[in-house]
Amino acid sequence: MPNEVADTVVIGAGVIGLAVARRLAQAGHEVLVLETNDAIGQETSSRNSGVIHAGLYYPPGSLKAKCCVNGKRLLYTYCEQRHVAHTRCGKLIVAVSEEQHDALKGLQHNAFNSGVDDLEWLDQTRAHALEPDIRASAALLSPSSGIVDVHELMLALLADLEAAGGMLVTHSQVMGGKSTKQGIELLVDSGNESTLIATTVINAAGHGAADIAHRISGFPAKHIPTIYPVRGHYYEHAGKLPFSRLVYPLPGKTGLGIHATVDLGGQGRFGPDAEYCDEVDYRFDESRKHTFFDAVQSWYPGLSASSLQPGFVGVRPKLQGPGKGFADFMISTPGDHGVEGLVNLFGIDSPGLTSSLALAEEVLLSIHPANK
Ligand SMILES: Cc1cc2nc3c(=O)[nH]c(=O)nc-3n(C[C@H](O)[C@H](O)[C@H](O)COP(=O)(O)OP(=O)(O)OC[C@H]3O[C@@H](n4cnc5c(N)ncnc54)[C@H](O)[C@@H]3O)c2cc1C
Repeated sequence: MPNEVADTVVIGAGVIGLAVARRLAQAGHEVLVLETNDAIGQETSSRNSGVIHAGLYYPPGSLKAKCCVNGKRLLYTYCEQRHVAHTRCGKLIVAVSEEQHDALKGLQHNAFNSGVDDLEWLDQTRAHALEPDIRASAALLSPSSGIVDVHELMLALLADLEAAGGMLVTHSQVMGGKSTKQGIELLVDSGNESTLIATTVINAAGHGAADIAHRISGFPAKHIPTIYPVRGHYYEHAGKLPFSRLVYPLPGKTGLGIHATVDLGGQGRFGPDAEYCDEVDYRFDESRKHTFFDAVQSWYPGLSASSLQPGFVGVRPKLQGPGKGFADFMISTPGDHGVEGLVNLFGIDSPGLTSSLALAEEVLLSIHPANK
């Protein structure tokens, strides 16, 4: 691609880049998606729980709360329209002792203030009636939580993008760039290096987003946050899990707690844990089995250690530093950083999958504020 000109470039073909690219193409942009890997969704987007979150956990008024609640609605509608495999199976958040009831009530209150008004408080008898194998002194039932087949979702987004005239180019790594009078000039390595000038660039590179911003000469460094990689392991469960809903403990400070999910193929798994690390590293550390066993057994006493098999690792791109409080999604626009035509998406960790279609709407509005 020597010195080509493009209208809109989206960097990164994870679920966020694809959702944004689709939305912009449908709004009339000529969109080119550049992806460094040889296929879509090889990073965070294929290494997660696949849960459609209801929006319980995030501070009311935050972008995470807003995009999760709106994104859930958009995602269910989209999956139905485009026949993307999903299930609205519901979820239980369990308290294992009365000491945890206040925290569980706090979660219910927080969810209500974020617009989630369908949660149901279950006493022990009702919780056990729904899920006989869990240990719970009380639970919250979230009927609008579910599971989506993330790969099918990404394929549907890509098909929509292409139907709207957009294009995906794989094996193309954005190495850097600069702001020019004609637009943003990107240096792209697709086997050999070339440049590409685009009027609008959406940086949806996940873990790579901050690095790309640093490599755009003249981009103000004070507008580039630190992205902290936080690893999460999953153990697969050999044999069928006895749950018909997702089962979560109360959330921790960094993650939502080691929970149980069953994917659409029927595979049950537990995870993820949460550990800050220096770099994105997908190697599985098998020494965690005991920690997993203890954590899960506290609410699923029937678990046998031999049923836990090493699964996979996903890495969250977090803006929340170790020991720090909540950090929101960051959509950084020219109004924030002053570089015309560039929108950076930083820190799109959970609930990014659930929020993908809503984040795409936010990006569209940031480019065309007149539509607000
Ligand atoms: C363990 C875990 C569990 C999670 N569970 C859930 C869940 O249950 N529900 C939920 O809603 N969310 C969940 N999430 C969050 C969700 O997975 C992410 O928010 C979402 O996948 C982020 O998508 P993305 O497109 O921003 O990032 P990615 O999927 O990482 O995509 C970024 C893309 O950019 C590409 N790229 C990077 N640098 C360059 C470059 N220089 N040039 C070109 N391309 C580049 C990468 O190759 C990659 O394909 C979870 C995340 C983790 C880690």
